[in-house]
Amino acid sequence: MTRRNLVQAAAAGTTGAFLASNPAAAGVWNRPCGRRKIGLTPEERAAPYARFMKPAVDPPQPHVPAAIAAGPTPASLIPSRRRLADDIHTPGYSPVETGYGQLPTGEVWVACLTDMPGVTPVMWEWWFAWHSRESGRYKLWHPEAHAYAALRTNRSERLPLREQFVSNTSYVDEIIGGHLDQLAITFREPARFGIDTGRFDGVAICGTVGTAFVPVDVGILCHQVRATPNGSEMRSRFYLNVPGTRAYDPVGAACAFQRGISLPRSMVFDRRFGAALLRHCGEEMNHLAGFLPELYWEFG
Ligand SMILES: [Zn+2]
Repeated sequence: MTRRNLVQAAAAGTTGAFLASNPAAAGVWNRPCGRRKIGLTPEERAAPYARFMKPAVDPPQPHVPAAIAAGPTPASLIPSRRRLADDIHTPGYSPVETGYGQLPTGEVWVACLTDMPGVTPVMWEWWFAWHSRESGRYKLWHPEAHAYAALRTNRSERLPLREQFVSNTSYVDEIIGGHLDQLAITFREPARFGIDTGRFDGVAICGTVGTAFVPVDVGILCHQVRATPNGSEMRSRFYLNVPGTRAYDPVGAACAFQRGISLPRSMVFDRRFGAALLRHCGEEMNHLAGFLPELYWEFG
């Protein structure tokens, strides 16, 4: 038995034992967990939005590979996490809008600017309310890396957009830097991070990111989408190696095990991961921005 099989068997045993000892959790199987796959399944190919699935992800905007090639941003140029709100509120641009690096605290930081002509901020709020409901939708965002998505709570689509995803957890399986991660992204009000969206013309989508298996978070993220004369721009910020906890969700954890456990790369993120995340972010935001207006007008 390989190490991977051993881990899978152990995980299956743990999950099975848990469900056996917790009848309420057995209800998990009433909601299909779904499976993980890069590329659309035959059922997903029949979905009305399938024509937006491209065979490959669009390249990032040129400043992204340039920032990666330039190497890590010096710590002296990286805003501390406590200054995240200042960074977001400041009109104009920060000294480094696209880069990655590490703070003396050990936190890994990533920033990514994406210019999005023809895209409005509300389209991104709609996207975050819409995409997590089906893996096929999530795959449109990054066809080479996104393999699975499900929400902790499927809230009514009649709710205002933000109420559909804020305080909800999105479980995603995606490949970043060649490694499959099984993540739990819990969206939060920007105010939790000190951000006042009344101070700029746009929206902010913020959250914590953790592992799908246990209620442990490992970082925070914020995407500010700010109006520009010809559309909008996204200013993404990530701080990793920021520990936290969230409410335990046995359903989400059991489904993550059922999809097949991907061994964590490490409990600690390094600058190399920062560079990989920068590329991934630069790819998926630019890729989606290319057809988000058309998608929004058809399904929004
Ligand atoms: Zn992604």
